[in-house]
Amino acid sequence: MKPLLLESRHLSLNTATLGPRHSLQQAVEGCVKYGFGGIAPWRDKLTETGLKQACRLINDAGLRVSGLCRGGMFPAGTKRERADIRADNYRAIDEAAALGAECLVLVVGGLPPGQKDLASARRQVEDGIAGILDYARAARVRLAIEPLHPMYAGDRACINTLAQALALCEGFGEGVGVAADAYHVWWDPDLPAQLHRAGRGQRLYACHICDWLVPTRHLLTDRGMMGDGVIDLNEFCRTVDGAGYSGLYEVEIFSDGGWWQKSVDETLGTISARIKALNAAEDNNEH
Ligand code: ZN
Repeated sequence: MKPLLLESRHLSLNTATLGPRHSLQQAVEGCVKYGFGGIAPWRDKLTETGLKQACRLINDAGLRVSGLCRGGMFPAGTKRERADIRADNYRAIDEAAALGAECLVLVVGGLPPGQKDLASARRQVEDGIAGILDYARAARVRLAIEPLHPMYAGDRACINTLAQALALCEGFGEGVGVAADAYHVWWDPDLPAQLHRAGRGQRLYACHICDWLVPTRHLLTDRGMMGDGVIDLNEFCRTVDGAGYSGLYEVEIFSDGGWWQKSVDETLGTISARIKALNAAEDNNEH
């Protein structure tokens, strides 16, 4: 397979990587300073900054928006809750449209509290997406289902593999694809085939990278910096590229005890250095 040499301009910074202490403005300034091609804000950063100001900051910096995090969280115990969830997803779609985001990432939700019927939760996800799809299409916002590692099936996402996500997408037709996050899908024996399936169907909307630490001490907030864990990220990114992906490689590191404690410069400087190291490894493979 041909080598994939990533540069900073191919990267996007997911604002979760800087943690809660840093503002959207700091994230944008960091992206500009380190030459990143894009940014992927979480909605809390939009609320904090104000949507108009957020759009202005990002546009003025000339950054792409590789995705907005997040919509979804569809399963719920009552009709009323489901209606509220749908309304919130409409707002997320409006925000994604305002930002010109390349997709709205859907973390689809797990079991409603007190329930054990996983099949029903999965049906609710399908119904939930069906319920917002026309609205998203009208707004020209692509919906990217992000399959999450199965350890999140109870509370965050009952769509857990790319195959499962793609089966859903294919049922919906246009405007629904996947976000392939290395943290969630690296272990999947069917990963290369599913990435290619996504690529063939023009459904590979986003690619998130970080690393899997051994041991992982917290399900949510102990992700690793690229190179500190066990994921073969060269292989992963090369497969994503080979599947026809043309978007940015979005760095998304939830790291409460680690990177969230560091300065923007330290984190973005390290990301840039690690991308160079990945490229060096890629070069070595060639010879
Ligand atoms: Zn992700």
